[in-house]
Amino acid sequence: MLKVSPATVSHWVQDLLDGDWVVESDGKAWTPGRPSSCLTLNPNAANALVADVTHDGIEIAMVNFIGEVVARENIEEPMADFTTGSNLLLSKLRSWIANPNGIEISGVSLVFPGIWNDVTRNLLFSSSLPGWVGMDIPTHSLGIPVIVDNDANSAAVGEAWFGEQVDTTNALVVLLRWGIGSAVLHARDIFGGSRNGASGLGHMIVANEPDAPLCDCGNQGCLEAVVGRTMRRVLGRTGSPGDVDDSEMQSIVTLLGSATANMVNLLGIQEIVMIGDSLTNAPALWEMWVQETRRLIMPHMMHSVRFRRSALGERAAILGGAWNVFNQVLGILDKREAL
Ligand SMILES: [Zn+2]
Repeated sequence: MLKVSPATVSHWVQDLLDGDWVVESDGKAWTPGRPSSCLTLNPNAANALVADVTHDGIEIAMVNFIGEVVARENIEEPMADFTTGSNLLLSKLRSWIANPNGIEISGVSLVFPGIWNDVTRNLLFSSSLPGWVGMDIPTHSLGIPVIVDNDANSAAVGEAWFGEQVDTTNALVVLLRWGIGSAVLHARDIFGGSRNGASGLGHMIVANEPDAPLCDCGNQGCLEAVVGRTMRRVLGRTGSPGDVDDSEMQSIVTLLGSATANMVNLLGIQEIVMIGDSLTNAPALWEMWVQETRRLIMPHMMHSVRFRRSALGERAAILGGAWNVFNQVLGILDKREAL
């Protein structure tokens, strides 16, 4: 039960209407005290321009306030070289900002596969784009507010706000791309930890041995390092399981299952949302991963954890990036939660 007075609710609704955050869907004028009124979010209340940067390209999308992608551009270019990649990224964004087709852009969201430092305004670490680490990305030249975050964090935000009723109190969102990214949703927020670098499933140590493979992060035995190139071919964004034999698949899924089970046992995760077509669209692999994870979960939690294929898929990171603009640039979280 909402513990506020009708007058307070009326004030909130009027505030939302005055700001064009909501519109009346039944065509009737809303007045305080009216028994019922159909209000819905205004799709045109705000728009965000999002660039999802990966190892092998950029996905640029214009997203409206209700999470609809109203325009998009897919650029397939190697992004590993910082100078070439950042010039391409910024020139594309400038072009979109200069030609918005009548859309008022509230801000830009950059989604990167790495750990972003908000203080120094550069990447602290990225296994996908190591050449970008520590480099100055001149986002100020865009002349518009710019928000930057990790791709898995953005995907988790996208799942929380635009996904299918994801449990935002205790959920693990896993993003399989070039690397293995993940984020934890806890108490309706991202658990970032120190330097916003928490929850990287790919850098969980799964082989603590002297001769364990060296990881891009500098440690030995990380999940990404152990499954290495095979993981990228099988589970990555463009991977195909067809050219990998059963024992390789079993090895990869077993290690992934160990890592996800450890997260469940450590944090009391209630739901795992998986993003990555090569796993979510491969029934045998999917079942193998679920069974292996469930086998390693503590008995008292074994049957309560839900395994879910993301309904948003690759769009989750884009939509989460947009939501970061709506929330951080416009500060509308309180307004939306009032609904
Ligand atoms: Zn590592």
